[in-house]
Amino acid sequence: MRPAVFLDRDGTINEDVGHLDRRDRLRLYPYSVDAVRLLNRAGFAVVVVTNQGGIARGLVEESFVVELHAELRGRFAAGGADIERFYHCPHDPHATVPAYRTDCDCRKPAPGMVRRAASELGLDPTRSFLVGDKWSDIDLARAVGATPVLVRTGYGATQERQRPAPAGTIVTDDLMSATVRMLAGGAR
Ligand SMILES: [Mg+2]
Ligand SMILES: [Zn+2]
Repeated sequence: MRPAVFLDRDGTINEDVGHLDRRDRLRLYPYSVDAVRLLNRAGFAVVVVTNQGGIARGLVEESFVVELHAELRGRFAAGGADIERFYHCPHDPHATVPAYRTDCDCRKPAPGMVRRAASELGLDPTRSFLVGDKWSDIDLARAVGATPVLVRTGYGATQERQRPAPAGTIVTDDLMSATVRMLAGGAR
């Protein structure tokens, strides 16, 4: 059972542009590939877990999300960084697209995506970190026993003002400073 770093997507590895529905709207943060490569070298599997509620609302095609993730994986690989797998939740209990209207177990902060990754890839969430820019990411980390990391990119700075971070949460500027903290053993 390997340790992992679970990464949120929008606002964590790329700019949150609302519903990312076109390739040309994808903007990776300039440090994301380097951060993932450093995490890989330190022995962490890196996995993306992302809520894509735009699918349930008919704003983004699920097939586009799957293609985009394949392309992203390639861009990271070109920089020597391995994102082992992308998991996305396309559901929403209030979806306008009936096929996606369900109270699923994978919409963060529900633990479904992390649990699937753990069983499919042989990962130990309790030795892992989960990095994101929303409280739903932090709540998910706590639910699965991973160390939560809140980054101030995306919605992070706003979220930080809304409520105090739970004890044990690493709060830091962005994915690169988060990476430095994680490589240092997650010192709080
Ligand atoms: Mg996010
Ligand atoms: Zn779901």
